[in-house]
Amino acid sequence: MNYRNLIGGAWQDTAETLTNVNPSDLSDILGHAALGDAAQINAAIDAAHSAAPAWAASTPQQRFDVLDFIGTEILARKQELGTLLSREEGKTLAEGIGETARAGQIFKFFAGESLRLRGDKLASVRPNVEVEVTRSPLGVVGLITPWNFPIAIPAWKIAPALAYGNAVVLKPAELVPASAHALADIIARSGLPAGVFNLVFGPGRKIGAALVDSPRVTAISFTGSVATGRGIAAACAAQLKKFQLEMGGKNPMVVLDDADLDVAVEASVNGAFYSTGQRCTASSRLIVTDAIHDRFVAQLHDRLSALRVGHALAPDTQIGPVVDARQLEQNERYLQIAQDEGGIVQGGARLIRATEGFYMAPALVTETTSAMRINREEVFGPIASVIRVRDYDEALAVANDTDFGLSAGICTSSLKHASHFRAHAQAGMVMVNLPTAGVDYHVPFGGTKGSSFGPREQGSYAAEFYTTVKTAYTLP
Ligand code: ADP
Repeated sequence: MNYRNLIGGAWQDTAETLTNVNPSDLSDILGHAALGDAAQINAAIDAAHSAAPAWAASTPQQRFDVLDFIGTEILARKQELGTLLSREEGKTLAEGIGETARAGQIFKFFAGESLRLRGDKLASVRPNVEVEVTRSPLGVVGLITPWNFPIAIPAWKIAPALAYGNAVVLKPAELVPASAHALADIIARSGLPAGVFNLVFGPGRKIGAALVDSPRVTAISFTGSVATGRGIAAACAAQLKKFQLEMGGKNPMVVLDDADLDVAVEASVNGAFYSTGQRCTASSRLIVTDAIHDRFVAQLHDRLSALRVGHALAPDTQIGPVVDARQLEQNERYLQIAQDEGGIVQGGARLIRATEGFYMAPALVTETTSAMRINREEVFGPIASVIRVRDYDEALAVANDTDFGLSAGICTSSLKHASHFRAHAQAGMVMVNLPTAGVDYHVPFGGTKGSSFGPREQGSYAAEFYTTVKTAYTLP
């Protein structure tokens, strides 16, 4: 299978390609993705630029019909598309199907949102003058996405971009072209006019950077690493280009003495290890008060050693492989650093399975302190560390002792502490007795501090990024 670029409604090959390998089975080649060049990304931007005015003038019904078509087809094919996703990214089949369904629901949600975009009409402070506040599309938006949610993240950027009347150029992550291609194929058949949506594969520092640098791209929405995000921010700021960043997390899960132990362990296993820990909302820091600490760690160890790590498509697999060799080596490096700094590491070995893949046992690092690198830097693997604290006050202080602020969780039966934590956790999303990862599709997603920049994604709040506000004054 060749994953081609979609430019101005035409599918285009490139001379060079990138091989798409299944991380559960390195002998399984899914296909070859185009490697776009400067001419192709410029052609995609041209196509979007030409198509943008007509789409900006489209009716809400046209937008609804397109988005509803896309959402309907994704949902109808969730088994097949979810299988493809799991095969190229390595999350379990249940997770792949779940993510695909979520992408479909996002398109359905924004189909509805295109009918609900509203403005305001106010009386002026001046006699007889009318004031009207409306939202307009931005023009061409450049969307740059990571590999860990190959269909849901493109969906939650493309759907609002189109719903609010923008033209799109998508630059997906190099590791997961199949899902982006399948999504583009559906979009291409949705009735959307040619050129409103374009897809260009290729290396970030070339194709992504060209999007960021083009004066004809009005705004950039990026999800990925902190280092890349900072570079994009600097480039956009220099051009006064609108941008939105979703980057890393170092999300705390606080477990208090009065927590239901089973709930706390399940929330931690799910939050830290599902999706192989490759989620920006993963609970990588488990902050546990003294009286429950030892029981919590013992039960968590039991659960971790029972987790079945294996081929993403095998029905009994609970944890799929790590996405690639580079990420696996990074995980191992961090475990070594944690050990060198005095943490006690259990798990984390490479695992042999029937097929050759990037299999790694989940790892828990205990007896850590907030100052250790394992608690300060995002690892992005099936690894969590435990920090022992005295009481709630110290737990909150440690939870907030981070450069990140995406998601924060607490397990407790105390209404007082839960309410205080909701108010004072420095994070864009707070979870009580629930995992830090796994969120609804119709409400805002995003963080504070070093995790995110710009308006929130998803839900009706997405309009803040994908539209610009105009205030009109009229003396009739
Ligand atoms: P990761 O390390 O998880 O792959 P990255 O931030 O490198 O995270 O990648 C996220 C997305 O950003 C990918 O689509 C990647 O190709 C793209 N990207 C990488 N470098 C740049 C860059 N300099 N400019 C624009 N996009 C980039």
